[in-house]
Order: sequence, then structure tokens, then C-alpha cells
Amino acid sequence: MVLSREQLSHIKTVFKHSEFFPNYPQDDTTQRAWIEIDETALHHNVQQIKNLLSPRTSLMAVVKADGYGHGAVKVANTVMAAGGDALAVATLQEGIELRLAEIEAPILILGVINTLEEVEALVHWQLEPTLCSLPQVQLFGETLQELGTMLPVHLKLDTGMSRLGMRWEEAISFVQYVQQFPELEIKSVYSHLATADEQDDRFMRLQQQRFESAIAQLDSINFTAPCLHLANSAATLRDSSFHYDLVRVGLALYGLSPSPHLSAIADLKPVLQVKARITQIKDIPAGAGVSYGHQFVAKEPRRIAVVGIGYADGVPRNLSNELQVLLKGKRVPQIGAITMDQLMLDITHCEHAQLGDIVTLIGQAEQEAITADDWAQQLGTISWEILCGFKHRLPRLSVKNAE
Ligand SMILES: *Cc1c(COP(=O)(O)O)cnc(C)c1O
Repeated sequence: MVLSREQLSHIKTVFKHSEFFPNYPQDDTTQRAWIEIDETALHHNVQQIKNLLSPRTSLMAVVKADGYGHGAVKVANTVMAAGGDALAVATLQEGIELRLAEIEAPILILGVINTLEEVEALVHWQLEPTLCSLPQVQLFGETLQELGTMLPVHLKLDTGMSRLGMRWEEAISFVQYVQQFPELEIKSVYSHLATADEQDDRFMRLQQQRFESAIAQLDSINFTAPCLHLANSAATLRDSSFHYDLVRVGLALYGLSPSPHLSAIADLKPVLQVKARITQIKDIPAGAGVSYGHQFVAKEPRRIAVVGIGYADGVPRNLSNELQVLLKGKRVPQIGAITMDQLMLDITHCEHAQLGDIVTLIGQAEQEAITADDWAQQLGTISWEILCGFKHRLPRLSVKNAE
């Protein structure tokens, strides 16, 4: 027994808490805020990416950070049904969450596993680790020897990201050390690109050269990796010479382009929409301040709407007074500080707004659209950070929009 009954039930409570919202009815007006996941769009994005790949290249869907805020289980199931080949997550717990949901696909853990208990859990849950240092190889080798079991492992080379991995010049000693432990079954050798989304492709190509030189070195000791991989979304989109046997795609699956200069390569559709309801409408007189600190003071009488979503749901507080939302197909300004659970809109010019109306924070409403990229630009960050900022408190609803 690897995990005790208590540990297991704890993990189940933590990770299955999304079951507290089983098939939440979409027309339930008590629901203050939610995320809609468009399974049709996700399916479409998988097809778009697969169209770029040769038949020899597998698609590994990166569903770390709760599927970039979309809900890892839902994304994993949809992607696998749409023709994905494998999954990747960052942590052991994220991998266990998928196994508890009875997902059987191969799952690569991209992050570091460094303790004996975690190695045991990996074996139990059939999750595949990344190996990136010699002490770690030793821990794995010895633990598996004691358990008397094999484990597929993935060797990570650092070709210039200076994050996880053995330096590419050390590929031979790395592989030879791993080969001393027959329980370690090398399933792939991989590396990660630092600048694939940038217009200037010189460093990305240098990393590729280093990767290939490491592979050539391994050839010289008669080691052939069964699978090689290097590409994230950006490299997958921009150059098929980076595809090798497998691509690890995150952002593009969710329908966003890693960079504007790559957006024409595939027709990607945003998968997630963030919506909330108007929970109160009121008129305020000239001179009234709105929200904490009165950052907004009405110069003339205003009609405001309170909306049931805030920074604890993942709407960044730094967007206060800058955010716009879509209401009845029109852009409406948000006013005053965004609070933990609520925010206010100025709906003075939106006469038809009513209690219970749905407000779109990210998504499409009639002719207007607001994307995670728009928020990222306003905040000086990247869309990845916006997406994985959406919290568990928002129920994820599946919708199937027509193509
Ligand atoms: C997150 C991650 C990816 C996916 O990156 P995207 O840019 O979202 O496609 C791929 N590989 C590794 C090692 C990662 O950590």
C-alpha cells in the first residue's frame, strides 16, 4: 500500500471538490460567476495542431496548473477523445488528480520528484517522471530496486533555458549513469526552449543544435532514445523541424497564440469564457465614491451594477478602473477598486441592463470580444498567467458551441 486510506481520501476531497458542482444548471440565476469551457473549440484546436504534425509525431497535451485554469480533467478527457496521445502536468498531485478521474493516458510529470514517498506514489499511480540530476537518478534507481519494479522515465537536458535538466554537454555521463539501473526504462530524452515565442529565432536554433549534438553524442555510445521532444506551442506552430517524435503543447490547445507573429499559422479558437451576473443595480448621486478607497468618484449621477466576481476568482485587482466587460454586446467600464468577490460597473449608458444579466469578462458577445491576451497586455504580463489565475471557486461548465 503506497498511500494510506486517510491520505487517499484527503486527496480525493481536495481534488474531487469540483464534484460539488455536478452539471451546474446554466440558467440558475443564483450562480454568481462561472467559466464556460467550449469543448467544440478545444476539439477544433487539437485538429488544427494535429494538421501541422506529421504522422510520426505525437501530441502531448500540457494540462498543468489545472489545465491552464480550464479544469485539467475536462481538458484531458476532451483532448484524448480528439486524438491526443499523452498528457503532461507539473506536479505529482496534478497527475494523481487525473488518475483519480480514471484517465489512463501516459502522464509525464514535468517538475521535479525528489523524495522516496513521491517515487512510491509515482509507481502506484503509473505516472512518468522527469529525471534531471544524478542524485535524483540514484534515488529513483535504488527505490525501484527495492520495490522490484520498472518505471518509464524521461531524461531532461538543459540546452539553454537554465532551468531543469542536465547540461547538454553531459548527456553521455547522464545516460550512462541511468543505464546502471535496469529498473529505469528511458522512454524519452527532451529539452525545453527559452525563446520560441520571440520573433528572433537565433537562440531557439542554437538550442536545437545543442539538442542534436547531445543526441549525436548519445549515438556514439550506441544509445538511441525511443522518443525525442523539444517543442512547446510556439515551436510547434513555427517550424516542423522542431517536432521530432512528440510535441508538448499547452497554450495553443486553449486557443491562444504564444505571440502575435504566430497567430496566422493555425486557426485557434479560445476555449474559455469567464462570465458573471449582475447581483444589484442602483443609482448613485454626484459625489458618491465607489468601492474601497473611493478610487472612483461620480462626477454626476450614475447608474452602477454590482457583479459577483472578484480578484479571489482570478480577476486581477490591478485591472481596477481599466477593465471593460461585455454587457448585451457592448463594452461597459468597470469602476472603483475590484474587490475580493465583487466588482462594480458603470451602466449609466446601458439602459436595458437588469438584475441577473450575464456579463462577459473574457469571451465573445455578439460582435465584441475580450481575450486573455487583452488582459495580459493591459497588465504587462502574458496570457499564460491570466489563464492559470482563474480559481477553483469558479465552476467550469461545458458548452458545445457550433463551429
Ligand atoms: C508548460 C510547458 C510546456 C507547454 O508550453 P506552452 O508554451 O504553453 O505550449 C511544454 N514543455 C514544458 C517543459 C513546460 O513546462
